[in-house]
Amino acid sequence: KMENKIKTLEQGKKIYPEVKFLTYRDRKRILVTGGAGFVGSHLVDRLMMQGHEVTVVDNFFTGRKRNVEHWVGHENFELLHHDIVNPLYIEVDQIYHLASPASPPNYMYNPIKTLKTNTLGTINMLGLAKRVRARLLLASTSEVYGDPEIHPQNEDYWGHVNPIGPRACYDEGKRVAETMCYAYEKQENVEVRVARIFNTFGPRMHMNDGRVVSNFILQALQNESITVYGEGEQTRSFQYVSDLVDGLLALMNSNYSMPVNLGNPDEHSIMEFARIIRSLVGGASEIVKNPAKEDDPRRRKPDISRAQKYLNWSPQVPLLIGLNKTIDYFLNELRRSRHSERN
Ligand code: NAD
Ligand code: UDP
Ligand code: UDP
Repeated sequence: KMENKIKTLEQGKKIYPEVKFLTYRDRKRILVTGGAGFVGSHLVDRLMMQGHEVTVVDNFFTGRKRNVEHWVGHENFELLHHDIVNPLYIEVDQIYHLASPASPPNYMYNPIKTLKTNTLGTINMLGLAKRVRARLLLASTSEVYGDPEIHPQNEDYWGHVNPIGPRACYDEGKRVAETMCYAYEKQENVEVRVARIFNTFGPRMHMNDGRVVSNFILQALQNESITVYGEGEQTRSFQYVSDLVDGLLALMNSNYSMPVNLGNPDEHSIMEFARIIRSLVGGASEIVKNPAKEDDPRRRKPDISRAQKYLNWSPQVPLLIGLNKTIDYFLNELRRSRHSERN
């Protein structure tokens, strides 16, 4: 039986998405840390289709092999199971440094590990960038602004972060990661780019990572109560993942080295999100108020004039279109998991 299986695998040739042909001169060797995660895997798709050589490094804490499975075996693609807290010696031209848990339940699950990944892990990637003279882009976050006192947030704002609160392992980890980038730039001439990413959603988001978009869509699809934390008056501004990927590519390949906000300024209260998602999904979910979360930022909206000015970038995908694509993805995931439960 086993023999039969091996034969079919050998006979069935794998079909890859189409990649552009790049000459040796234009083709870059690009490392994506955290490339098996939500954002990373979309970035990998784009870089691969552009014809580059892509190496993904991931410890699969929150990432999944399935997110990049369609590239495994392709001659331009490599997947390394590696934890960036440990040194890494490879040769590359560019580093997109995305490895870090990103949703509050994930980064709070093991705060010490979150700190190690963002500090030791970032030092290692900067050490690598220094040795091979690669440019490094850090995936930072709007969380560096903490619970902001100015609105909307621009890049000159220094932030309002509780250094010992439950979110500190992530917020302060990313803040010191930014500090490290500019220290390596000044002291060692490493070329750095810093993207301050605001809330992002889309297909391949983790179903159970506890973020608001995934929670609300799943709850609505399963006719469960939609759980708003607190009164639902806090606001967020959500960008669709393809817009973020456009922004990351534009920033990496620009001449601009100061931090840049990447987000969609389309701001809604969490209660509005609950209503929007319920009406898109249909169904009869009730919206219930749960206790508020500690240190939950009350308002968040990016000022994107810097990205518009230096990158000529602004988000293109409207919220409702992005949400519909995400709902379709979750619907398929639910069907898939029901199917595998039955078999
Ligand atoms: P994700 O959890 O889907 O991806 C993170 C990836 O990093 C996962 O594949 C995980 O396995 C990997 N990883 C974690 N620790 C690692 C380690 N020590 N060594 C190697 N790999 C490790 O999250 P995401 O939403 O794709 O976020 C990607 C990046 O963007 C993160 O740095 C995050 O902080 C940042 N960001 C995301 C958002 C958002 O809304 N999604 C917002 C702001 C910033
Ligand atoms: N490092 C790495 N890959 C490399 C070069 C360095 O992982 O290709 C790590 C190395 O383990 C070191 C860190 O990056 O701890 C910082 O490197 P740097 O050269 O700045 O520091 P040093 O080696 O001088 O302590
Ligand atoms: N939230 C909510 N219900 C949920 C999950 C989240 O009301 O089931 C709220 C959360 O309190 C926060 C906002 O939605 O105010 C965004 O939360 P998320 O965890 O997605 O991201 P954050 O911006 O807080 O990192």
